[in-house]
Amino acid sequence: MAFKNQYLADLMETVKKRNPGEPEFHQAVTEVLESLEPVIEKHPEYIKMGVLESIVEPERIIKFRVPWVDDKGNVQVNRGFRIQFNSAIGPYKGGLRFHPSVYEGIIKFLGFEQIFKNSLTGLPIGGGKGGSDFDPKGKSDMEVMRFCQSFMTELAKHIGPDTDVPAGDIGVGGREIGYLFGQYKRLRDEYSGVLTGKGLTYGGSLARTEATGYGLCYYTEEMLNDHDDSFKGKTVVISGSGNVAIFATQKATALGAKVVALSDSNGYIHDPDGIDLDAVKEIKLVKRGRIKEYVENHPNATYTEGCRGIWTIPCDIALPCATQNELDEEGAKALIAHGVKAVCEGANMPSTPEAVHAFQSAGVLFGPAKAANAGGVATSALEMSQNSMRYSWSFEEVDAKLHDIMKNIYHNSAKAAKEYGMEGNLVAGANIAGFLKVANAMLAQGVC
Ligand code: NDP
Repeated sequence: MAFKNQYLADLMETVKKRNPGEPEFHQAVTEVLESLEPVIEKHPEYIKMGVLESIVEPERIIKFRVPWVDDKGNVQVNRGFRIQFNSAIGPYKGGLRFHPSVYEGIIKFLGFEQIFKNSLTGLPIGGGKGGSDFDPKGKSDMEVMRFCQSFMTELAKHIGPDTDVPAGDIGVGGREIGYLFGQYKRLRDEYSGVLTGKGLTYGGSLARTEATGYGLCYYTEEMLNDHDDSFKGKTVVISGSGNVAIFATQKATALGAKVVALSDSNGYIHDPDGIDLDAVKEIKLVKRGRIKEYVENHPNATYTEGCRGIWTIPCDIALPCATQNELDEEGAKALIAHGVKAVCEGANMPSTPEAVHAFQSAGVLFGPAKAANAGGVATSALEMSQNSMRYSWSFEEVDAKLHDIMKNIYHNSAKAAKEYGMEGNLVAGANIAGFLKVANAMLAQGVC
């Protein structure tokens, strides 16, 4: 879509020139700036004070070498990144991704999205993201530990409980957070909430592991309730089989739906009887195996090589929970043809712009990632609060707060969309609601 507003068109051109070869970042910025057209028409002060120019430029980019020794005694060298994007409303907060596809553009897109997502939670957290092109898949625990120790040896210079608080993301789960935390503590001689997603024995929060998947379902249920509908009796397709997908499957099932499909980066399983989640947890979380192993003990289930075909499975609700741009226009059209009612994004930017457009044009309820998957970072912020208090809340207390936060995110986004003349457009609503809080904080703090 072309910008009607010349100022925004020029700004987008500058972003592309300044960040060449980073299509994911361009995609994320384009989507936000498109939503902000009516906002800057109403609030020219944001232009005058350079708020938009500042918000698309990271406050700081840290890029470093990560050397480590593998089990055969060979030296390996990876690249590490931390992008501290915006600290207007709180310390930088956002996960670390370890995946071979990681480069500066991926971290920039994720860090940019994180600014608005964190703002939507209503909690005092700024936006940041980091990671490495290291692939934990197929590595031994000792190799992962040596990599994490080397990564943290540099990262520790730039983070802190009141400065920048990383967490997990793709390829960074409880094991990696543990090794990273251990190294930070050793280097700084400090026991603080510098990372979230920690284990329960050393400062983690109950319900953090479940939070992104549960939060996604709370948001989706609220959206459905607002349209006199619910998960009850629905057929659901979920992509991925990692942290987000597993706990989205658990909560959707608890809310009365039947989840019939999951995937990994090799292919997808379809189980018309409903996914046996204990079997998936055993394969993915305990054995770190492949999703195709599921069909060995589930005779009615099928496995198909390749990920994209998952969207051809008929369903009422689709929850993409794997990775960016995994759901394209073809996938969207297949879902629409089978009568999908709602699509909510568990992964970050899983739908291409063409897919989003197809859903919106077909009247499918569409919940964008920065709103729908904000439950993870919201609960991370609750972990920070508990660490500061040196106290911990029960699972039920954290889960109840998460539930409230997700309901509020849905209603605040819906309200903002309506207020700016785009009723029902939850993409625009999330971008506007997230932006306004950060932009006003930036205005209040002056040019800095
Ligand atoms: P995990 O590493 O736990 O799992 C990722 C899953 O996605 C794996 O099953 C992986 O398969 C699969 N996958 C990767 N690429 C593809 C692909 N092209 N097609 C199908 N499946 C694929 O990561 P998370 O569950 O933590 O993260 C998933 C998404 O959710 C990411 O976009 C992340 O940024 C986002 N997110 C995560 C949050 C969290 O709290 N963890 C918070 C907010 C957002 P394989 O095993 O083959 O690699």
